This record gives sequence, C-alpha cells and structure tokens, in this order.
Amino acid sequence: MSLFGTNGVRGIANEELTAELALDLGRVIATLKPGKVAVACDTRISSQMLKSAVLAGIMSAGSDAIDLGVAPTPALQFYAKENRIPGVVVTASHNPREYNGIKFVQENGAEFFREMDEESERVYLSKKFRTASWSEVGRLVNDDCIQRYVNAIVETVELSKRYRVVVDCGNGASCFTSPEILRALGCEVYSINAHPDGRFPARNPEPVERELELLKKAVVDFKADFGVAHDGDADRAVFVNEKGEFVSEDAMLALMARYYVEKNNGGIVVTPVSSSRCVEDVVKKAGGEIVYTAVGSPVVAKVMMEKKAIFGGEGNGGLIFPEHLLARDGGMSIAKVLQLIDETEKKLSELIAEIPRYHMIKGKVECRNREKLLSVLRKEFPEANQIDGVRLDFEDGWILIRPSGTEPIARIYAEGRERRRAEELYNEGVRILKRALES
Ligand code: MG
Repeated sequence: MSLFGTNGVRGIANEELTAELALDLGRVIATLKPGKVAVACDTRISSQMLKSAVLAGIMSAGSDAIDLGVAPTPALQFYAKENRIPGVVVTASHNPREYNGIKFVQENGAEFFREMDEESERVYLSKKFRTASWSEVGRLVNDDCIQRYVNAIVETVELSKRYRVVVDCGNGASCFTSPEILRALGCEVYSINAHPDGRFPARNPEPVERELELLKKAVVDFKADFGVAHDGDADRAVFVNEKGEFVSEDAMLALMARYYVEKNNGGIVVTPVSSSRCVEDVVKKAGGEIVYTAVGSPVVAKVMMEKKAIFGGEGNGGLIFPEHLLARDGGMSIAKVLQLIDETEKKLSELIAEIPRYHMIKGKVECRNREKLLSVLRKEFPEANQIDGVRLDFEDGWILIRPSGTEPIARIYAEGRERRRAEELYNEGVRILKRALES
C-alpha cells in the first residue's frame, strides 16, 4: 500500500492531504459501506476543511453523512459501535500541526484492519466510486457523540472519594471530554491547555515527557493525585504521578494489564512486539497470558477480538479496554487509573514502583532493502519471534530489528534489566543488522 499507513492516510494538509483526496476518501468509504457514515474531526486548522470534503464525498455516493463535529477519535468510534455504522475521523493524532489524516472506522468501533485499508486503497486507485443520481444524493445530518461517550465512561467507574486531577488537553479534541469525565466522576479538576486551538500554541500534540513540564509543575503545585495529558485526538493518555514525575507508558500498560488479569483471574493480554518485557512479566505472574502482535493499534485490536482478550495496548499510552471499545481510549484510561487508585488505596507512584523496571533503547539504521534484510534475518534466526521484523529474546532482555515499510530505515529496539545490558544488546542488534545488510 502506498496511500494508507499504519493509521490511515496522513500528510501535510493542503499539500499531500488535499480537499480532493479527502473528497475521494469520503467516496471510498461510502462505496465500500453504503448507508450511513459518521464523521468527526480534531481541532486542527485544516480539519473542518477536510471534514467538509469527506462529508461531500459520502453524500455524493448516495449515503447519509452524519457530522459529529469536533470530537476525540474514541468518541467517534464509540458512536460507530453504538449505532452499528462505519465512521471516518479526520485527525493526524500526535503529529505536528501542519499535518492531518483520515482514518476509517468499522461498525464495531475498531479501526479498519489492514486488509480493509488495502481494499480501500484499491477502490481509491480504481476511481470506481458509487455515484448517486441527483435525486439519490445523501443527506447531511448533525449529531453529537460527546455526551454518550462521556456517560458511558463515567458509568463504568465508582469512586469512594474525591480526587484531585490536573488534565492537559494540549488544545486538542480532549478539551470537550476529559475535563467533563473527571468532573462527572466527582474529581476536583484543574485543566490546562483546555481550549481547542489548532495552532497548538502550548505544546506539540504528542504528549512526550519534555512537553509536559507545565503539567508536572501543576500537579505538584495543586497537590494533585496525578496528572494526565492527551495527544491531539485523545486516544492516548500519559500520566504524571503525585510527585510530578512522568510515568513511563510501558509501566502504565503493565500496571493496567496486571489489574485486568487479577480482576479476571487470568485472561489474554495483547501488545505489540515492541512493548517492554515488564508487561509480560506482570501478566504471567498474575496468571495471565501474553500475545504479541506486529506494531500498530489496528492489529492489536484485531488480535484482541480474535483471541477474546481482556485487555491490550501499546507502549505509547494507547490502552484498549475491550468491554467498552475495541480501540485505544484516552478518556477511559483516566477513569480506569482513578478506579485502580481508589480500589488499591495506593498512590500512583507506589503502584508504578511495583512494576519491574527495564531500560529500553531505540534507534535506526539506514536500510534500503527491506525484503533482503528480513529474509537474511529470518534464515539466521529461525527460532526468533518473526511477527514483525525479528525479535530475539534473552533471559534478561531482548532485541527487535524491524525494517520500516515506508522509510528506507530499519528500527532497532533493545531492552535490558540494566542500562548497560540494554546498551550491549543494542550494539549487538546494530552488528547483526549490518552483517545481514552486507551479506
Ligand atoms: Mg492519537
């Protein structure tokens, strides 16, 4: 595929992702799934322009287009699931402000799986869209997906006391949901960067630690129980503990996985091969089973569905609570962290301290021949996990070598109990990769 990446179509707005392309993608989904299609967008400057084009494309194919306005991706997905209709979300998630993206959603609320994106791309390239006659053009319907989404999350959690939480919406779509979820759960809420602004004046949409100094400070100053920050479309949530320290996303994934396995007396947890070993450690110790997938949230959701997993997620703050929605959900992540703190009566820093610590190093090396690298590595390491690239597991760590599908690079991940071991494994990964490229 050339157009669709791991998470739909992405590009710089009005250069790569144009109104024409958005129009055609609206026609694609309405051609594949006639009837009704729901559409929402994030707060980016280009989002309303692209959403309007998607809506027009859907209607031109004879389907009704439901405009849900600005909403988090999981809110659109929850609407799709509840109404059993497909959806489109206009967002570039965590990418910088000049970008935008278009992602398709299934009637069950999950993102399109890879084979569905492949089919979408075939329809797009063929330009064989359904075109309605003048009298059969679809209607434009306005609806809201925020309130039901917020209520559905709030209904799942009951808290025994009032917590104090700082939420950094990053001027993204979570402005409309996360402060509201926290208020409805009885929390004392302090919100920052909580007005929608597609210029993202305060920080980049990606909630990496260095962007969250204000959140860390606010948590300490307000003596909050924790802080939370979202990416642009609020399917991800990252946390800051009560001391103002950033919580590693892998540790949070492990903490929540352990909680779900303990609550269910076992069960399957699904995560990509790039996730920290700490997840596998705690899942197995709690009596659960870990299943690894290729990198990317759609495949995690797909495998969760097939294996009837109780929980899953990625090591970037994307947590999936399948009883609610088969997709990453930043709003639900907040509710579940509150529930966990409430049930255990522990502080977030104490809970995180219970998760084994690993050191991970990530890097990349130039690689122009993806297929050759994969075939050499697969032959050399037949016993390795080959779900996505090649992952070599050792007693005290692992190495993952993954050639990119879209760029001329191969990514190397290495993780060890100690920093030195991680470095050793990383260097070993580079050696293996270079040897394979030269062979
Ligand atoms: Mg996102």
